[in-house]
Amino acid sequence: MGVDTLFLGSKKTFSSNDIDMVLYIPVQQRKNIFGRIICPKCGKADKVYKISYGMPQYIKTNISPRGDTTYSRIYNGYYYAGTDVTGVAKYHCERDKIEF
Ligand SMILES: [Zn+2]
Repeated sequence: MGVDTLFLGSKKTFSSNDIDMVLYIPVQQRKNIFGRIICPKCGKADKVYKISYGMPQYIKTNISPRGDTTYSRIYNGYYYAGTDVTGVAKYHCERDKIEF
């Protein structure tokens, strides 16, 4: 569908050997009481960012006091997915590194 990875759901246990699931593509978005979108995996909203596709692209460079360099696609409240994917997923959870 033109996306790299799309989170559809997770199950820890099944009640029987018959697996019968309904998967929504993309998953149905749920909001917390503050109206913020929550992650379908961790159930939290604090690391969820709206995805921005296409240009411009931002890669934020962070250099730690020890000199380690890390890169982040998160800038100004958005997760910049770039131009190599076409927007089925609407949100990104930085904690779980998933798109949904
Ligand atoms: Zn999450």
